[in-house]
Amino acid sequence: MITRTIATCQIEDWQKQLSEAFSSVKKLLEHLEIPINDYPTWVGAEKDFPLRVPRAFVNKISMGDINDPLLRQVLPHHDETLSVAGFTKDPLLELKANPSKGLLHKYSSRVLVILGSACAVHCRYCFRRHFPYQDNGLSQREFEDIVNYVKRFPEVNEVILSGGDPLISSNSRLNHLIEALEQIPHLRRIRFHTRTPVVIPARIDAEFIALVQRTSLQVIMVLHCNHPNELDPAFTEAMSALKAAGVTLLNQSVLLQGVNDNANILTQLSEALFDSHILPYYLHVLDPVAGASHFNVDESTGVALINQLLTTLPGYLVPKLVKEEAGQASKTPVVETIPATPKSTK
Ligand code: SF4
Repeated sequence: MITRTIATCQIEDWQKQLSEAFSSVKKLLEHLEIPINDYPTWVGAEKDFPLRVPRAFVNKISMGDINDPLLRQVLPHHDETLSVAGFTKDPLLELKANPSKGLLHKYSSRVLVILGSACAVHCRYCFRRHFPYQDNGLSQREFEDIVNYVKRFPEVNEVILSGGDPLISSNSRLNHLIEALEQIPHLRRIRFHTRTPVVIPARIDAEFIALVQRTSLQVIMVLHCNHPNELDPAFTEAMSALKAAGVTLLNQSVLLQGVNDNANILTQLSEALFDSHILPYYLHVLDPVAGASHFNVDESTGVALINQLLTTLPGYLVPKLVKEEAGQASKTPVVETIPATPKSTK
């Protein structure tokens, strides 16, 4: 299985797939045989955050279906231009947790490193869609500064590589970075947060597998899948190769109106993830970022969905419903608040 995966990945050229990603709404809709006149409201929505979607992800979208849940995640929509109270450009106040270029130090035991600005896909609900990535792309020298920063905090035992998407970086760059991180004595784990293998499974190539096998650090990969249709055989094969290389695989989803705000879909997602060796980890309430209000699902609906999942799935396949709150030391679990029982007068 692994040999076959690696051979397949070598034939594929993930960087070519990246460069050939759809960037035109018109061409994407033509390809999907959706008349552009059926969907005129996208105009103006992609000025600040253009369309970007690789063909391997487009291949999972149903032809002719404007309401496809995968298409909804990537297609610019007029509602993004609406100004909605409570939805802001930096909902998590991340810019305040940005002690040096490319570094977020929000939690005591781990730091988040933003390797660069690019993502393989532009998700319309992304909470970092307004983040000034151009100020946070990292040079080699700047990465060394981050390594020196982490060395000063012995309580930091995990580095999270994020972005943008860290798997947009070449294998040789990642190798260099991991070698530098291995020099930090108190570091135990390295975690990739990525959506790239979901949209270009060929990204998990032989070189990358060798790299994660070689490192002395424990490797965790948190995938970002929102809908069961995103998991196809090529993706599962890539995950099998990672699992065989000793990588711990987790998933986090965002609860999205019109995509996965449905117990049946979430059940199918958890089952499909486990079939791909991935444990469901978090189901995030949408961060209130400007331009994404039309994806919002209220917390009480999220709690009701989790309660339904508890009746259909074993506990280990039920993700934790969480939200991120600016300034908090960890993610906040979203739980049902039970109204106090009135005291008996008897
Ligand atoms: S891949 Fe992640 S960081 Fe990139 S646009 Fe999508 S949600 Fe945002």
